[in-house]
Amino acid sequence: MDVALSPGLYIVATPIGNLGDITLRAIATLGGVSAIACEDTRVTGKLLNHLGLKKRMIRYDDHADASTRDYLLGLMASEPVALVSDAGTPLISDPGYRLVRSARDAGIPVTSLPGASAVVMAVTLSGLPSDRFLFAGFLPNKAKARADMLAELAAVPTSLVFYETAPRLADALAAIAEVLPGREVAVARELTKKFEECRTGLPADLISHYLAHPPKGEIVLMVGPPAEKQTDPADVDGLLQAALATLKPSQAAAEVARQTGADRRALYARALELK
Ligand code: SAM
Repeated sequence: MDVALSPGLYIVATPIGNLGDITLRAIATLGGVSAIACEDTRVTGKLLNHLGLKKRMIRYDDHADASTRDYLLGLMASEPVALVSDAGTPLISDPGYRLVRSARDAGIPVTSLPGASAVVMAVTLSGLPSDRFLFAGFLPNKAKARADMLAELAAVPTSLVFYETAPRLADALAAIAEVLPGREVAVARELTKKFEECRTGLPADLISHYLAHPPKGEIVLMVGPPAEKQTDPADVDGLLQAALATLKPSQAAAEVARQTGADRRALYARALELK
């Protein structure tokens, strides 16, 4: 099913393992574009083959020379051009940022077709708090830089999400055990594939497990948020009294709840007693 597409850049998410995870719109768009910019023509060629499509493919990554980017920008000014990566959503730890930025600067229409991305799937599977999370891409390879990055993220009050590879998992878990001790960890592996698994536990448990069962395949590593700080009741009273100097009890309770994470209704009751 080919569709008539207007000129511009179409960012198209592709499966992260299971080829069934491609949207109808992605298939129609890949069928309708004049060319597909991709990381690896062999990988994208296999997907096109599976979809029964034959398309011109142009190799692109963000380190491509300026002439390749200029060529693609020229093409998408008059023709519809897709951008795909080897798997998942382009630009998410994958090439495309510079191309999108240049296309937007040049006034070329850009749209993005949502679909598979390992980060989103892993967060939904993990059982870790998903109301907010910080995706930090890949941890650095070198031990010192890895520990520094984890230390920098230690106080972030959300789940943390990293892309990982099987050979680096043991080192990453050891660094988490050292820099973020006591934090719950989840390892999501081979998502959408035959041996998909999501294992949770403390870093030490996961280290023992993966020592005994060396992991294979692709991995998303997640760390639960830090425990909420328990504020001393005397400190809470102090904060409430300070807030009550300028605010109504309900407002003071809301403000102290924001500062401490304590229950707002309990704070309101205490504010009325203190008033
Ligand atoms: N753009 C892709 C996306 O949207 O998910 C990510 C590309 S990044 C170069 C590759 C990393 O994504 C892998 O090292 C792994 O951390 C994660 N990943 C990709 N596919 C995965 C899968 N099926 N299971 C687990 N992790 C996966």
